Amino acid sequence: MKELQTPSRTIMTPGPVEVDPRVLRVMSTPILGQFDPAFTHIMNETMTLLRSLFQTENRWAYPIDGTSRSGLEAVLASVIEPGDSMLVPVFGRFGHLLIEIGQRYGAEVHTMECEWGAVFDPDDIIKEIKRVKPKIVAMVHGETSTGRLQPLKQIGEACRALDMLFIVDAVATIGGVEVKVDEWKIDAAIGGTQKCLSVPSGMSPITYNDRVAAVVESRKKVEKGIATQDELQKQIDISPIKSNYFDLSQLQDYWSPRRLNHHTEATTMLYALREGVRLVLEEGLSERFQRHTYHEKALMKGLEAMGLELFGDPDCKMPVVTCIVIPSGIDGEAVRADLLHHFGIEIASSFGPLAGRIWRIGTMGYSCRKENVLFVLAGLEAILIKHGAAIHCGAGLQAALSIYEQAE
Ligand SMILES: *Cc1c(COP(=O)(O)O)cnc(C)c1O
Repeated sequence: MKELQTPSRTIMTPGPVEVDPRVLRVMSTPILGQFDPAFTHIMNETMTLLRSLFQTENRWAYPIDGTSRSGLEAVLASVIEPGDSMLVPVFGRFGHLLIEIGQRYGAEVHTMECEWGAVFDPDDIIKEIKRVKPKIVAMVHGETSTGRLQPLKQIGEACRALDMLFIVDAVATIGGVEVKVDEWKIDAAIGGTQKCLSVPSGMSPITYNDRVAAVVESRKKVEKGIATQDELQKQIDISPIKSNYFDLSQLQDYWSPRRLNHHTEATTMLYALREGVRLVLEEGLSERFQRHTYHEKALMKGLEAMGLELFGDPDCKMPVVTCIVIPSGIDGEAVRADLLHHFGIEIASSFGPLAGRIWRIGTMGYSCRKENVLFVLAGLEAILIKHGAAIHCGAGLQAALSIYEQAE
């Protein structure tokens, strides 16, 4: 077998996206032992960076080792006690993931669903919250499957007023779109690395407040070998968290000055996350969000000028994902395969009711650059012409160029 060699790619999917070269560079830094003060210092620095990223004063902000769904599962597993009621408003594929995880941990899950391609009127969710009176409301912020962005502030305020826990999947938005954990009264937020942070997949930064920490700590299981008689006595009434790996009460002890051993922290991924978030803050949150909407605009103008139809309600479009209706008579998968083969460009298809109906282009993090936007427009135009689609030749690139020239 030969030494590893990967083909050159332009990754324009809604994740994973191209990793920032500076992140790749720190990933070749030598590892440290997990209790080495030099390493625990890096752990603390990462927590500080994550608080800024999530715009929160929460004590707890640290990564779960695993892909983004590990963050979702850790929060849900640690908060849900069997029989708890949980409301999940669904507007795409990832809402169903929250339902799936909730049910596995014994929640009584209530759902409401709106058409894929739209989001909810917050008042409709608040009405349902008042009717169902759940302990937990869990929902997605940016639905990558449909490219829609759900406004959260009003829902968060309602949950706080009614003393319910509001848990948000911000996997696809963190670092690319505004996510204000404290201001929007989000009790726990889960982020992802391989989307707008431009870090490889394999970690999930989370944050949660004291309301969540209180639930987690009330379920803390003590280890027989080290517990006192008193502590063991108290264990009688608790419903311990059903997962060891995802037990936030143990994880937060590991991330606190106590450094109680849980798992062995994923050294290289922590370096990568630290650098990824450092780069986000170096660019500036608002500058970064603006960069995403700037390139989104060039891409959208280009696609529309080409004669393609964008999918979904424009009022709730996610700036970092653009969905295109596959023109009738065109084989969406054949176009994607040709784009990859001839140009080395990857764009995405979708799931469930949208499979075969739309393509999705991500403009996230390091992938969100002028050269990538122009390249994907050029490649798509060439392949669509090859497949016989009726498009306006040359118009897409010119429209995008004019956006860039205006700004420059
Ligand atoms: C990508 C994504 C996930 C799942 O992330 P994994 O890293 O694949 O586990 C969850 N929610 C949303 C909104 C996503 O876009």
